[in-house]
Amino acid sequence: MEKIVSLCRRRGFVFPSSEIYGGLGSTYDYGHYGVLLKNNLKARWFEAMILERDDIVALDSAVILHPRVWEASGHVEGFTDPLVDCRTCKLRFRADKLEDSQCGRKPSKHPGEFKECDLTEPRQFNLMFETTVGPVQEAGSKAYLRPETAQGIFINFKNVLQLARRRPPFGIAQIGKSFRNEITPGNFLFRVREFEQMEMEFFVPPADSERWYRYWIDERLAWYLRYGLRRGRLRVREHGPEERSHYSQGTSDIEYLYPIGWSELEGVANRGDFDLTRHTEFSTTKLEYVGPDGERYVPHVIEPAVSLERIIVAMLVDGYDEEVVGERERTVLRFHPQVAPVTAAILPLIAKDEGMVSKARSLYEELRKRHSVEYDDNGAIGRRYRRQDEIGTPWAFTIDEQTLADDTVTVRDRDSLAQERLPIAGVRGWLDDALERDWHPPKGD
Ligand code: ATP
Repeated sequence: MEKIVSLCRRRGFVFPSSEIYGGLGSTYDYGHYGVLLKNNLKARWFEAMILERDDIVALDSAVILHPRVWEASGHVEGFTDPLVDCRTCKLRFRADKLEDSQCGRKPSKHPGEFKECDLTEPRQFNLMFETTVGPVQEAGSKAYLRPETAQGIFINFKNVLQLARRRPPFGIAQIGKSFRNEITPGNFLFRVREFEQMEMEFFVPPADSERWYRYWIDERLAWYLRYGLRRGRLRVREHGPEERSHYSQGTSDIEYLYPIGWSELEGVANRGDFDLTRHTEFSTTKLEYVGPDGERYVPHVIEPAVSLERIIVAMLVDGYDEEVVGERERTVLRFHPQVAPVTAAILPLIAKDEGMVSKARSLYEELRKRHSVEYDDNGAIGRRYRRQDEIGTPWAFTIDEQTLADDTVTVRDRDSLAQERLPIAGVRGWLDDALERDWHPPKGD
């Protein structure tokens, strides 16, 4: 994990937030390549969940909702973690995660294990960030930053049902920021206080909920494989009844083998009719489906929910590789080509050669219309390749002396390091085809 954090910083993917003020624990800012990576992942999710299907529509709901939403959802009362304070070191820990935490005085021990530890009894601590709506703090002005995007979907159920003319089974999907005042955040982006969720609520006839629940576990697992995570580092873990949330009729975690061990990447839950029933009760607006022949029911809900942050960590861990090539070490991020921040680099071999520069620039101008490409004429060619390897660019096109003679360029493959020559006029078509080809993790499954 340390190597990945340092690569992310060095190459400007992600850096600690508010650094010039000493940083703010577990908040991060995304730099250029981080933003490109995030945008690609969002686009791939959006394609799979919405564009490639007929039964899911998009939504972008507000971050700050009516506070009653969070009473109805159970978050005001129950979105809590048990917390203990240490009177000696003044640190706070999650009572149920002591074995994942370090003692403030003796980091080799867990809190409570060192002789000086003095832990309080566990108290329930609500994870929602509170804020005030309007210029003054008064009764009724309290609101919350959403801890999940799902509730924004449930409260729009009626709008979508009417306006998008849908009938179950159908889904509503959205991507947006969520906020949780996590007690023990950490492990880089894995557990942060502000993260971007991608959630989809799939409304189904009650009798079909189990089938759809299984369907969505399989679909989401297939999405990770499609975008190159290794099969051997993914597993599905079904929660036992004691672990499930109060509303859940079934929950499975798609887990990834992170450096901290098997941990939740994405959750898929069968939420039953809990959410629509509660919002009907609290808002007095009936949230149900009424069919053309008068049949009526409260749909059950299947929810796949994940954060971009957890996907990013999994993709970085999965794709990170170090190898020695021709006595030189290289670090490479083997991202799936449709996920990689930069699809191709255009490199004139000699930066001072006007002929090469002009051909390279015109190829760059042509490709940038449709792809995320980078022009780089800075430094020795070997260094430029290594830079592109470190940000995970799958292909580099090099313009050299031969280009001036016969209008061909070299394409270098990030994973195999194979080089082949192609006509410059065919590069655009070659790249379009290469992006459509199946891609498998070069290190096997
Ligand atoms: P955990 O048990 O790890 O706290 P959770 O079960 O509370 O997670 P959910 O409420 O199911 O998580 O949230 C859905 C998804 O949102 C998770 O699978 C994860 O991908 C993501 N997520 C939740 N909390 C965080 C966080 N603090 N930082 C980054 N991603 C998060």
